[in-house]
Amino acid sequence: MTAALETRIAAEIAARREALIALTQDLIRIPTLNPPGRNYRAICDYLAARLEAAGFTVELIRAEGALGDSDVHPRWNLVARTEGTRPGDCVHFNSHHDVVEVGHGWSRDPFGAEIEDGRIYGRGACDMKGGLAASVIAAEAFLAACPDFAGAIEISATADEESGGFGGVAYLAEQGRFDPERVQHVIIPEPLHKDRICLGHRGVWWAEIETKGRIAHGSMPFLGDCAVRHMGAVLAEMEATLFPLLATRRTEMPVVPEGAKQSTLNINAIHGGAAEPDDDYTGLPAPCVPDRCRITIDRRYLIEEDLSEVKREVTGMLERIKTARPSFDYEIRDLFDVRPTMTDRDAPIVRTTAAAIEKVLGREAAFVVSPGTYDQKHIDRIGRLKNCIAYGPGVLDLAHQPDEWVGIADMEDSARVMALVLAELLAA
Ligand SMILES: [Zn+2]
Repeated sequence: MTAALETRIAAEIAARREALIALTQDLIRIPTLNPPGRNYRAICDYLAARLEAAGFTVELIRAEGALGDSDVHPRWNLVARTEGTRPGDCVHFNSHHDVVEVGHGWSRDPFGAEIEDGRIYGRGACDMKGGLAASVIAAEAFLAACPDFAGAIEISATADEESGGFGGVAYLAEQGRFDPERVQHVIIPEPLHKDRICLGHRGVWWAEIETKGRIAHGSMPFLGDCAVRHMGAVLAEMEATLFPLLATRRTEMPVVPEGAKQSTLNINAIHGGAAEPDDDYTGLPAPCVPDRCRITIDRRYLIEEDLSEVKREVTGMLERIKTARPSFDYEIRDLFDVRPTMTDRDAPIVRTTAAAIEKVLGREAAFVVSPGTYDQKHIDRIGRLKNCIAYGPGVLDLAHQPDEWVGIADMEDSARVMALVLAELLAA
């Protein structure tokens, strides 16, 4: 890349500061809440108009029949592509357009996109409408600075990342849209911070464990068998043996934050006995011995661990309890799993982005791995594309929090980094 092109790109990004702010605000003001998956079509239509004006060919793709798709809440995705003047690589920016529920504790309108002290506030500001806006501005700035480029640029806005991505990137990957013959470089502008490159994520295994009991009158518990007490034994065994064991396992992956450099397990939920009464129910509960109790576990595992071993560890623990505890019976059901993934530090997208970060910020890029998964899992496994990273503005810790915000200067810097990546890979 020539110094002249670098200067032109910096100027084009600077000239788009107001456009970047307005775009981010517009995106935040479309409340794409997931669940249940609201306004997906509206945000795709908005982006379609924007990107068509910038010269992209736009397709809106509904993930018909995918997990979560329905006529009431259809799973709409957008894929936009613009071709250069000659053959070359395709650089793809993938952002999810859904946001999580608002939750409590906001001091501002979660969909108002208010600006204060250089920050834009709102649900999805950081995760990840700020990143989506930065990638659109980066592409527009690059196209203005370098209309004669090789290859292609793609921008996608996809559904349901927050609920697994099956109606979004997984669906597109199944349609061949991330095949290495079609797309060679992928950046996912998740909020990992403007000076960090996220190479991948730990693995996940979700399962449901159910303990069995027998219902009886609560005044004569000896006539039944309490499933909640059996689950108590499971939890006690986890505390005594499993959690301490997981804490000893450390990974070589650069996972952040520090606490996630080990294997972890969360108990997402516990349900047992009588169902919780409705809010308007004013009576007392009925006395029954619970005949079943369920927990959902969320086990995050390391690239050094093996999924079948991870599962055996839990079933082995349950079997041990079974031999020691009279009438203990259980069932375990797999819900979901994702293998860990980590892009090579020498991969072209990693090296190019690291160099661009150094140019824009004047310091070396940091390499991180995410504690949780994101859509890279589908690009990696279904799309078979390994040259993929997450890179975008925003502070990861703010994601899903009340008063979520994204910094305007951070968005500008990352947009410049992304535009320089385009220049390096496509302007040759
Ligand atoms: Zn996200």
